[in-house]
Amino acid sequence: SINKPKSHHLRLDDVHISVKTSKKFHRQRLDVILQTWFTQAAEQTYFVTDDEDAEYQGKTNGHLVESNCSSSHNRKALCCKMSVELDFFMVMDKKWFCHFDDDNYVNVDSLLDLLGQYDSRQDWYLGKPSIKAPLEIPYLRKQSNKNGNSAFWFATGGAGFCLSRSLVRRMQPLVSNGKFMGLGEKIRLPDDVTIGYVIEYLLGVPLTMVDRFHSHLEPLHVLADDALRSQVSFSYSTYRGNQMNRVTVPGWDTNSDPTRFFSLFCYLSPTRSKNCPPVGT
Ligand code: UDP
Ligand code: MN
Repeated sequence: SINKPKSHHLRLDDVHISVKTSKKFHRQRLDVILQTWFTQAAEQTYFVTDDEDAEYQGKTNGHLVESNCSSSHNRKALCCKMSVELDFFMVMDKKWFCHFDDDNYVNVDSLLDLLGQYDSRQDWYLGKPSIKAPLEIPYLRKQSNKNGNSAFWFATGGAGFCLSRSLVRRMQPLVSNGKFMGLGEKIRLPDDVTIGYVIEYLLGVPLTMVDRFHSHLEPLHVLADDALRSQVSFSYSTYRGNQMNRVTVPGWDTNSDPTRFFSLFCYLSPTRSKNCPPVGT
């Protein structure tokens, strides 16, 4: 058809899916992933964590990357994991690096469809910001880069983002051998912001905004049934009490499927799941 986007004949095996996690979340967050979307990309998905865990090393079929990063939630520890994620990608022969958090559902078919629209031999930074304007940070005040900008966009890590191999290769001199952690310390901002700083500000490659990525920083229940199939990622979050931000999708009741991931799995790929509720429930 006339408006069909260019296809770069991408195979799932061209994509490296990297999930950031922590040992304290393995049972709570990885089980639901391993039983749902992971089954569709088990060869391509790796979990970067902070401690040894023989049980989950087995459950992931050896795809748990046990980094030496600290297990705390500080900037250094999170930047450490991101740099391990990037280093791990570089030793794999893949065209695309996609990062997700361990509270993301990855819609593998839609991810592949999205990436097929771009050429991995060019520089691509695909993701979705969670703020309405590019970030101005004190460290950069009155300094501008080669494009004349003193602010930059960044893709929210909690929604997932993808980088082409060409771009990650260009990032190497700036981020390899622990330099990424140094940059995070310098600008004093989290890992996803530091990624944006490196790509948009230092390299001058603009973020391509893709609405199909979703974090729990946005209201997830507003996504319509018929739009779910084309989305790339979903998430969930728990607040105090019983307030939850999660996708509305037909399927299991919310007590047996609080994250909605089992229901999403059934809804998006009914033929691939043996244990799904009957359609119409
Ligand atoms: N995370 C981590 N170490 C920590 C806390 C969180 O590696 O000490 C990871 C976690 O596994 C997830 C991401 O960081 O992939 C975001 O964590 P979380 O969803 O708990 O917090 P948010 O930033 O979304 O509020
Ligand atoms: Mn989260």
